[in-house]
Amino acid sequence: MSVQLGSLVRADGNGAVNPLRAGLDSSRIAEPCSIVFFGASGDLTKRMLIPAMYNLRLGDILPTNVGIVGFSRSALSDDQFRDQMHAAVDQFSRSGPAKEPLWGDFAQRLFYVSGEFDDPEAFKRLRARLEQNDRNLGTQGNRLYYLSTPPSVFGKIVAQLSNAGLGPKDQAHGWSRIIVEKPFGTDLDSARALQAEVTKVFDEKHVYRIDHYLGKEPVQDIMALRFANVIFEPIWNRRYVDCIQITAAETVGVEGRGGYYESSGALRDMIQNHVINLLALVAMEPPISPAADHVRDEKFKVLSALRPIAPDQVSKCTARGQYGPGLVDGHPVPGYREEPSVDPNSNTETYSSVKFFIDNWRWADVPFYLRSGKRLAHKYSEIAVLFRPLPHRIFGEGGEQIETNTLVMKIQPEEGVSLRFNAKVPGPRMHIRSVTMDFNYGSGFGVVSAPAYERLIGDAMRGDATLFTRWDAVEAAWLAVTPILNRWQSTTATDFPNYLAGSQGPQSADALLVADGREWRRI
Ligand code: NDP
Repeated sequence: MSVQLGSLVRADGNGAVNPLRAGLDSSRIAEPCSIVFFGASGDLTKRMLIPAMYNLRLGDILPTNVGIVGFSRSALSDDQFRDQMHAAVDQFSRSGPAKEPLWGDFAQRLFYVSGEFDDPEAFKRLRARLEQNDRNLGTQGNRLYYLSTPPSVFGKIVAQLSNAGLGPKDQAHGWSRIIVEKPFGTDLDSARALQAEVTKVFDEKHVYRIDHYLGKEPVQDIMALRFANVIFEPIWNRRYVDCIQITAAETVGVEGRGGYYESSGALRDMIQNHVINLLALVAMEPPISPAADHVRDEKFKVLSALRPIAPDQVSKCTARGQYGPGLVDGHPVPGYREEPSVDPNSNTETYSSVKFFIDNWRWADVPFYLRSGKRLAHKYSEIAVLFRPLPHRIFGEGGEQIETNTLVMKIQPEEGVSLRFNAKVPGPRMHIRSVTMDFNYGSGFGVVSAPAYERLIGDAMRGDATLFTRWDAVEAAWLAVTPILNRWQSTTATDFPNYLAGSQGPQSADALLVADGREWRRI
């Protein structure tokens, strides 16, 4: 296989060229800067962030005048950090083990500063390193800070950056931006408190709240599907849409992160950010341009139109679950309460589903059913738009069912779009069957999507905030889930565990839809 970077036109072994690949442009070069990863000794840095930086370099998206600085408490020299990151790239990079001479060049731009997050001396050392990068690497005074630590220290880091004269207002030249990992707060109050701390130093335009879901190619394709085609817009409303189902299903359990998950749960961990963001993309009005604030204005508008769930309606509009022991892929797995660091009487939900309504002209009375859970039958994420039944049926002999049309945006593991529609079965009689028209991004365009972190870090280095969540949307999402959180925290779920690992989830979630005369798509 030959690869021409730049045009991304690849010839297969047999010489055939996929015309869909022609003209794709990979040359969105990031700006020179130093990027500082706080929490650099952690899991995310080694599994995702440094491999993403390395692959950006490999793809010629990272300029050579870049410095990468790891900062955390563990005592490491620059060389030890480089060795650890080499091992991380070997293990986790999508392009395989680090390649020479590229790695050698990349490693020369990697540095490490060790210190406590509330130690001013450590931040002075960081400043000295950044100034050295400006002189030696040509990073031009530009700084991108990435908070990849536990959220409890986000505020401390921001305050110390300001004390050390490393905030945007301290700069004579260049820019400073900050990427904040999720979760942005653990409830509405803590999110507002964190926002107040962050904005003491960084204006909103400098803050990039990351939700890696938004960097996934199929998530970005939701906008392309909706706004680069004319055929969907006329039917994208209450007149034609019966309901929308958004699913983020996992087969894994808490994977050793029981301590974290105990204080989180499925509603906070998935619905408040990833799943609500998908809702915003599928339901928003067309933005006037793809500019970050035009897109984010529309997302905010739709989130602020979410009908608040009254406290006494929570049980009617939601379902929560917790997995017990069961079988996943034929292997027995323990229940949530038997996982390490989990309370044997835990009230934490590992599954949540919510029915929302959007009070605007487009969506009035169309239910948006959201669900996410761990240890379910299959791993997949999708948005399904289910259309209304036929207004008048003329086919369907012998009482055969005629399915309604469904458009599915597949996010993972498959990435694509499928449309389910009805067709006549060949033969003399008018038999109708449902068939599926499928588009798969991988085989269609012949390229493997880059991991979300690559896209998002590259965007932040270019100053493109479109795929990052603005504060007003974060606050609106917290407002939407707060009545549910309050109710679930103040009442013990007496039926936990209420679904088997490897199953479709709790019966109460099925009942939520059955009460509306509908059913979930099968996981
Ligand atoms: P870790 O728990 O591995 O922590 C990262 C680093 O922060 C640690 O290596 C540690 O470094 C430092 N740290 C840990 N606890 C403290 C503390 N109390 N005070 C100061 N420093 C501390 O986190 P991850 O790397 O897994 O995640 C980082 C961030 O990314 C979190 O906000 C997480 O929610 C988010 N995230 C992670 C994902 C993942 O897949 N891991 C996915 C999505 C989001 P040292 O001890 O050397 O200072």
